[in-house]
Amino acid sequence: MDFSPFIDVDIPVTFRDHPGVQSAVLYTEINLCNLNCYQCHNRYAYSEKKEKMTYQKLEEKISMLKLLGVELIIVSGGEPTLEKNLKEGLKFIKSLGFPVRVDTNGTNPEVVQQLIEERVVDGFAVDVKIPIKDEYTPQELERFKTILFSKADLDDAVIYNYSKKLKITIEIIRKYSLPYTIFRTVEYPLLLPEDRNEIKKLLESLPHQFNPFYPVEG
Ligand code: SF4
Repeated sequence: MDFSPFIDVDIPVTFRDHPGVQSAVLYTEINLCNLNCYQCHNRYAYSEKKEKMTYQKLEEKISMLKLLGVELIIVSGGEPTLEKNLKEGLKFIKSLGFPVRVDTNGTNPEVVQQLIEERVVDGFAVDVKIPIKDEYTPQELERFKTILFSKADLDDAVIYNYSKKLKITIEIIRKYSLPYTIFRTVEYPLLLPEDRNEIKKLLESLPHQFNPFYPVEG
């Protein structure tokens, strides 16, 4: 039996995730992520390890979604670009006639570029969680480590590395006109108004939205 890269959980259908478009969300392995963001909702919602869905079951579910009027499949995670069978899974969804958006934290520009070149993706939702800078103050480093890794006692390189990779991802995506692309920023309590302004400026010519922060148990 062939397993898809998506975990076997109920598939949420939503109008809110991609504004104005009825979408259904598939998830790659939730714990397969190189960040550990402050109060990650997906880790909280799917805390137990789940089995992968077979391709047969995926096809059945996607046929149902078509009947429900779903227009877009969203692939979330975890960090989907770390999933080794992602490309195959995206190809399968597209073979069933759906456009696909991949949600990413932006730290894997090589895979983003590859998915675009191989035409297996119709857009990305890129989370831009902190401002991108060449130099951060010690206070910024402490706040941003807490946002991205839920703790501050880490090497400063983790922030510089994140920021470098995210910048490359944004530059790649900027070059293509993929119809389902959006940049998003969660309004974490630790994100100050000046941080939000810098993010806004960075993404000003791109489709970007701020999303309210909801505590996981809130
Ligand atoms: S990048 Fe996404 S999945 Fe990974 S820890 Fe952050 S919020 Fe959770």
